[in-house]
Amino acid sequence: MLKNNNILCNVVECKFNDKNQYCTLEQIKITKHEAIAKNVESTDCASFQSMK
Ligand code: SF4
Repeated sequence: MLKNNNILCNVVECKFNDKNQYCTLEQIKITKHEAIAKNVESTDCASFQSMK
């Protein structure tokens, strides 16, 4: 899979990560897990999939 130069990501546990600081998807979805996001911890990548 080719890296997407527009999506930096260091989540190496994700099957879409190129293990060199980039995501390989064309597009990702970011979500929040609180009604009102207050800080970076309130947000996450909803496109994540585990390696298994
Ligand atoms: S899908 Fe999300 S978590 Fe996975 S490599 Fe891409 S940006 Fe990172």
